[in-house]
Amino acid sequence: MAIESVASLQTTVSSVSASAPAASTDEPASTVNTSSAATDDTAMPGGDRADVVIDDIFKASAYGDLDKLKEFIERTPSAVNQPDAQGYRPLQWACLNNRVAAATYLLSRGASADAADHTGQTALHWTAVRASVGTLEVLLRHIADIGLPAGGLDPTSALGDGAGDGAALDVPAHSMAAVRRLLELGDARGYTVMHVASQYGHANVVYHLAMRWNADIDGLDLDDRTPLHWAAYKGFVDATKLLLFLNASPNQKDKEGCTPLHWASIRGNIEAVNTLLQGGAKDSIYAQDVTGSTPQQLAAEKGHRHVAGTLASFRKSEERSKRVSSSWSAWNRIVTAMQTLQMAPVIWMLIIGLVYFFLTSVVNSALFLYHPLGLFGAIASWIVVGSSSIGLIFLYRTTTADPGFVRVADVYANSPHMREKGSSGMRARTGGSATVNHPALWSGEWERICVTCKLVRPLRAKHCKVTGRCVEHFDHFCPWVGNVIGRKNRRDFIIFLTLETIALVTSCGLALLRLASVVPAPGHPSGGGTFSLARLPQASSLVIFLVADFVVLLSVATLCIVQISQVCRNVTTNELANSHRYRYLRGPDGLFHNPFDLGWYRNVWDFMVETYEEQPQPLTSIVSSTMPKRVA
Ligand SMILES: [Zn+2]
Repeated sequence: MAIESVASLQTTVSSVSASAPAASTDEPASTVNTSSAATDDTAMPGGDRADVVIDDIFKASAYGDLDKLKEFIERTPSAVNQPDAQGYRPLQWACLNNRVAAATYLLSRGASADAADHTGQTALHWTAVRASVGTLEVLLRHIADIGLPAGGLDPTSALGDGAGDGAALDVPAHSMAAVRRLLELGDARGYTVMHVASQYGHANVVYHLAMRWNADIDGLDLDDRTPLHWAAYKGFVDATKLLLFLNASPNQKDKEGCTPLHWASIRGNIEAVNTLLQGGAKDSIYAQDVTGSTPQQLAAEKGHRHVAGTLASFRKSEERSKRVSSSWSAWNRIVTAMQTLQMAPVIWMLIIGLVYFFLTSVVNSALFLYHPLGLFGAIASWIVVGSSSIGLIFLYRTTTADPGFVRVADVYANSPHMREKGSSGMRARTGGSATVNHPALWSGEWERICVTCKLVRPLRAKHCKVTGRCVEHFDHFCPWVGNVIGRKNRRDFIIFLTLETIALVTSCGLALLRLASVVPAPGHPSGGGTFSLARLPQASSLVIFLVADFVVLLSVATLCIVQISQVCRNVTTNELANSHRYRYLRGPDGLFHNPFDLGWYRNVWDFMVETYEEQPQPLTSIVSSTMPKRVA
């Protein structure tokens, strides 16, 4: 890819500070710079620079031409810290473009790591513009003076040594103080490196800074805005999610009284709004800015009707649940219990009612006074009664079971990569454990963060909005069962469906046979012995049973067949419906590919016999081969 002139880089970089929200909430969008450097990859490493003449130290740094760089500095050693015509230094150019070798060389030749340009930005600010994690690490290690690992940092890993393990570095306290000064150094508008990373939506930089260097995620700029304000305002959902997961303050107000939710609402960023609401910004829906406006009012003013509607319905449901919990009367308790069970009582009544109806209208009706069931009929009747009853036991188990709720302790106990070495600040934020340190996050799998449960979900888990918790192998929430169908109760659910299908088919068949045998008794005035439609009204209850039975059979059997076919393919309803959202369900060609499908026989066996057993080895290897690291 052709690289544009260095001058174009200067424009994109200076746009970092030009992209602040306006001081007034009226016209925030007018100052938003849409041509952010984050989307401009023309100057990324590895580009073709055949058409660029490296004729000064700045270009040599920006393009990482180490030979030329050495040549220039050898000739004029003082040039290492001299700014170009716009006031930017060689180290800034090298850091912007993640030129690890060039940055290392410049530092070794005396380049000042904390020198600021006329906007107050240092080379560290510039690393956050294009997520240049390699040079970020070089800079901070240089400040901490802990040196580089043998052989230098590997620029392809972007994390240097120990890439992916996410351990915080052991840095002596006095060195850490110097690092903290640089991390907290604000530019002319008070933006720290964490602000810049959030402004460009680089979740990997935010994570790296927080976990490895214990950077403050709630730092304030000159308008009292936190990185979360910025990520929400810009609509960067991954960064918003990550900051909330790292326990950033969701309801912090800036100088205008605006919370992150205000800014996301002003911009109409519906995904950011939803993420904030799920991640603890509930109080912000009532918060008023200096003009007295709530996020909902601002969204409506700006014409973001969808956002205003979402906020209004969230507010309503919050108020409803508050009302219910505050008036804890007996009636409310019953209502809450019924709400939890959803339609489950209806299904119980339906099944018991159908069995009763079956016994009275098919098996033991006065209509069949002269038509005994016979052995076949008796067996069929017992099958119907037996299957329905045992089915109800499995329904009960499905409703009352833990469907596979994810617990924080489980997630971390099962992860061999967990370190208890998380930085002290992070430990304090997360209640004493380094639970935010997760290999999936070092690989950039932000979609696995649950901001509500504050955990990194196992691969096939999903957050259930009804139960408010993450569920392993989430299939769907079934209102008829009154529970989520997940890893630990799907087998019971399918057995229930199968037993009920058997009962419904058998009762339907028997009812049809009985209908055919509705013939007048011998000696009847109508002339016994032959079937006549005229007799149907007398068999009305039998006909009604048949219709009801058939309708229920259609829906239950369909669900049963769908579920069994999914088990044969080792896929969940949720995965099929939302496959586009899951990276692990995409093959190298970008099409749907299920890495868990081991063939129908093996799938069914695993499901029926080893359903609670994890098989981390094959799955991990399959999945990691299809998921490239995003931080690279
Ligand atoms: Zn959750």
